[in-house]
Amino acid sequence: MSSTILRLMLPLTCPVAALALRYLFVDHPLYSTSQLDFLLLQLPYILLGLAALTALLSNHALEAGITIGLLCAYWLIQRFLQSPLNTQPASQIFYLLTLLSPALLITYALLPQRSCLQLQGLLTVLLAPLIILLVAGLLAINHSLFLTSATDALSTSLIGSYLSALSWMLYFAAVGLSLGLSLYQHQSIHNSVLGCALMSVITYGWIQLNSISAFMFSGMGLLLTINLTISLLQIGYRDDLTQIGNRRALQQTAKTLRGPYSIAMVDADYFKKINDQFGHDLGDQALRVIASLLNQTAEGGKPFRYGGEEFCLLFRGKTEQEVLDALEACRQAIANYDMVVRDKQLRPKKLKQGETRRGASKRKSNLRLTVSIGVASSDMAHSSNSLNPFEQVLKRADQALYRAKASGRNCIQAA
Ligand code: GH3
Ligand code: MG
Ligand code: MG
Repeated sequence: MSSTILRLMLPLTCPVAALALRYLFVDHPLYSTSQLDFLLLQLPYILLGLAALTALLSNHALEAGITIGLLCAYWLIQRFLQSPLNTQPASQIFYLLTLLSPALLITYALLPQRSCLQLQGLLTVLLAPLIILLVAGLLAINHSLFLTSATDALSTSLIGSYLSALSWMLYFAAVGLSLGLSLYQHQSIHNSVLGCALMSVITYGWIQLNSISAFMFSGMGLLLTINLTISLLQIGYRDDLTQIGNRRALQQTAKTLRGPYSIAMVDADYFKKINDQFGHDLGDQALRVIASLLNQTAEGGKPFRYGGEEFCLLFRGKTEQEVLDALEACRQAIANYDMVVRDKQLRPKKLKQGETRRGASKRKSNLRLTVSIGVASSDMAHSSNSLNPFEQVLKRADQALYRAKASGRNCIQAA
């Protein structure tokens, strides 16, 4: 729950911070200088450009489409919406942006993530900018194409804003959908869409406020850049299968270690047999189970996937003897875990055997999942050794693991 709240902090704080900064700056005597004003108006191009470049280089087609769409929308605001809203083409462009922006955000929240190098990914990137520029282009050809709808919408604007009921409905849908998806799917794109929907509704709803678009679009650029950076860090430091830290994350954490610590190497027993008997997918599922049980059960320990079917638990500030109880709890939790194997997950050795199994959807598994554990602590690391202290402890934990394997598996050995 706490990580969910933390995730939601970013899209909620960005609009508040952008609003607060706007109020601080607009009242400041320095604000009236033309150089500062000029710089402020360019800031969204810089921040959104940075986000677009990061998204394109890291193959995040959804984020790239949103940022390039936002760049087009900001350009239209600066080019056409600096005059009163009851003039033309300002009112029509404003009307189009208030409908297209939430509608496109909803679309991007629902589209799957693609690589920019695929045709579908390229279409995803171009979707928002093409639609915005196409509709603006139609308006350039026929100057009063949306005149009646725009005038009607402005005259029926709601809640002290400039937004029509239809626009408010689309924004409610965009905020509700992205909030729901970011709570249940934990993908950074939904987090970005949520923040962009909030900052976009503030921009268009109160468009006549001085410099509101510059502050809000800068906020959107910043939010997208931060979320992309977090995604890239997760790709680099998190194991995709088990969603715990990978070996690189362990090595980074090792650099921050001060004082005593213990390391336990945890290796799944006879895992090759599990793959052979139940299939690779079930093997993957078993690895997820082990990671999750280590996470829940190893009190005071942080799990990392060291590689393959091998995990590492790092206990800060604890000696070998102090972690034995936690490790025993992990060993038991894994050995007692009853993995449900659906019949279709079993690999029938013969076709006939496979045919007779069909019908029953699941049965109690005979999958025995156990781990062997070797543990060592930092107090016996020697400075004369060619390995650094952390590598020495890791090596001793690995040697203890070999002894655990040799003494029958499903047990713990201390170095
Ligand atoms: P031991 O008890 O001695 O550790 O035997 P073992 O079979 O677990 O050890 P071995 O090193 O012979 O085999 C490890 C197996 O783990 C082989 C490999 O296919 C499997 N494995 C490694 N990574 C993954 C993975 O990401 N998914 C799946 N399903 N299997 C994996
Ligand atoms: Mg193994
Ligand atoms: Mg192994």
